[in-house]
Amino acid sequence: MNSAALYIHIPFCIRKCNYCDFTSFKYNEENVEEYIALLLKEIDMYSEKVKDYKFRTIFFGGGN
Ligand code: SF4
Repeated sequence: MNSAALYIHIPFCIRKCNYCDFTSFKYNEENVEEYIALLLKEIDMYSEKVKDYKFRTIFFGGGN
């Protein structure tokens, strides 16, 4: 079985860290809800493609 690691970026932050090179936007509840809905759709879309992978780690980043 193939193994993989998954990174999920949450691009909404209260303030921008000085060292940040990631995409990040000011927190806005409406945009967050839309982003999460689309993220769930994307996960669903890829689920068949990665069904034979074992995910060693799932890391959530951003969103401070
Ligand atoms: S929490 Fe992460 S994504 Fe947000 S500003 Fe800091 S480094 Fe960037």
